[in-house]
Amino acid sequence: MYGLMMDNPLTITSIMQHADANHPNAEIVSVTAAERWHRYRYQDAFKRTRQLANALMHYGIQPGDRLCTLAWNDYRHIELYYAISCLGAIIHTVNPRLFPEQISYIINHAEDRLVFVDPLIVPVIAPLQQQLDSVEMYIILTDDAHLPETTLANTCSYEAFIHDQAVEFDWPALDERAASSLCYTSGTTGDPKGVLYHHRSTVLHSLASASADVFGLSASDVVMPVVPMFHVNAWGLSYSAPMCGAKLVMPGPKMGDGQTLCRLIQEEGVSLCAGVPTIWAGLLRYLANNNEQVPSLKKVMVGGSACPLSMMHEFEQRYGVVVAHAWGMTEMSPLGTTNTLKPSMRRLAQAEQDAIRIKQGRAMYGVSMKIVDEDDNTLPRDGRSTGLLKVRGPTVCCGYYKQEASEAHDAAGWFCTGDVGHIDAEGYLQLTDRAKDVIKSGGEWISSIALENAAVAHPDVLEAAVIGVHHPQWGERPLLIVVAEAALTQADLLDFLTDKVAKWWLPDAVIFVDRIPHTATGKIQKSQLREQFEGYVLPDCSS
Ligand code: AMP
Repeated sequence: MYGLMMDNPLTITSIMQHADANHPNAEIVSVTAAERWHRYRYQDAFKRTRQLANALMHYGIQPGDRLCTLAWNDYRHIELYYAISCLGAIIHTVNPRLFPEQISYIINHAEDRLVFVDPLIVPVIAPLQQQLDSVEMYIILTDDAHLPETTLANTCSYEAFIHDQAVEFDWPALDERAASSLCYTSGTTGDPKGVLYHHRSTVLHSLASASADVFGLSASDVVMPVVPMFHVNAWGLSYSAPMCGAKLVMPGPKMGDGQTLCRLIQEEGVSLCAGVPTIWAGLLRYLANNNEQVPSLKKVMVGGSACPLSMMHEFEQRYGVVVAHAWGMTEMSPLGTTNTLKPSMRRLAQAEQDAIRIKQGRAMYGVSMKIVDEDDNTLPRDGRSTGLLKVRGPTVCCGYYKQEASEAHDAAGWFCTGDVGHIDAEGYLQLTDRAKDVIKSGGEWISSIALENAAVAHPDVLEAAVIGVHHPQWGERPLLIVVAEAALTQADLLDFLTDKVAKWWLPDAVIFVDRIPHTATGKIQKSQLREQFEGYVLPDCSS
């Protein structure tokens, strides 16, 4: 027997219409290249979204067409998010920091018809235009007065594109399983793979991620996504914030600038931020060096890479900001877990609470997780048994765009994340590595993440990466690579680590470098480090 409830489809259009009707005066404040801070309200945003939808329709955009954006977090990108998806077309967000060959590969693979590009990103795309066969026009995200000089052919300004368009638009009724957006994973091996979200997965992800133990969003919040809208939908905040009526503060091209982030927080009253550890390290350095405070900031979500305990302590003890550790993947819309303590855990001693808090956290509603061994047997949730992490759920992709079969998916529909870790009896996931980064020493696994976390807790260490290097007896041993702020020696660091990790985990050598390479999404690029240190001979193996 079916229930007697209405079958309204779960679409992004419903988020937009809800925000427009119930939170018309909530603000969106954006940093753009042309203006200091642009400010308008949701009702203004959705009025322009309807003008954009009219412009796209008159241009001849059809349901299912892919339209590319190469843009920062700002108000025009929000308009593109809603107009394109709610029209039935697909917004393909592209990371401008990818290598040029990757950008042209994915635009060609997606067969994007239009490219919406920020003026600051025009120099990235202009040299590639001859290779982009499907692109008909480049729309530069500014007005005529601020168009940059460029060799790009077939351009127009965004403002000219939507100018004179009617402010009314009849949004089409969409199937909730219709594709809404596309984001390619910037995998370190092989070609990038397209993750194709649908309206339903986006709405479910927004609902689940808005809940109290995840973002905990409300109409009283002022949300600043410092995670890019070009990478996994800014962790869904471009949907969940309007769904809850929260004010949005968009840092535009200034995401990596501690001073701008500090000003935005102080002047706009930002209460919640989300971003990767590198961003927060920059902000914390700026705050400490300039003796600034951020009294409105209540919570920072940290994910994308493991959040060091020292970062949590600094935020909490110096600035009164609660840090919630989160884990996710492009393939998961992206959120998988967040870490908040359960009531019984709040009574534990600080060190025991810390041991829980550095874990990646509990599954968000809708995400099922399991750890398996090499033969795909499910391992117990005992906080020790370590293996490959598999996930399943309505916000997880079931395959890749234009790919017949996916090696990452098994016959029962589980997606193998490529992450390695364990889950405890309370459901808390702790990642110890990416499968390809695991260090195998004498048949046992050493967690590079745990070693890196311990090393960055040293006050003079800016960044740390651990890779496995060949050892004749043990197979592999850990090599610690460090960017230090002050004069440090190997002995200082090993001494510091002695009581923080198992003795046999202590790195066999420490190398000091000026910089550690990062991927386009800000993660440490271990593949490049492994190449750089290929053939490295550990000191005790050199004779
Ligand atoms: P991406 O698809 O580019 O967002 O990358 C997803 C990968 O980033 C995950 O599979 C993890 O390896 C890593 N990652 C994300 N969040 C965390 C976290 N909190 N701790 C450790 N690794 C993380």
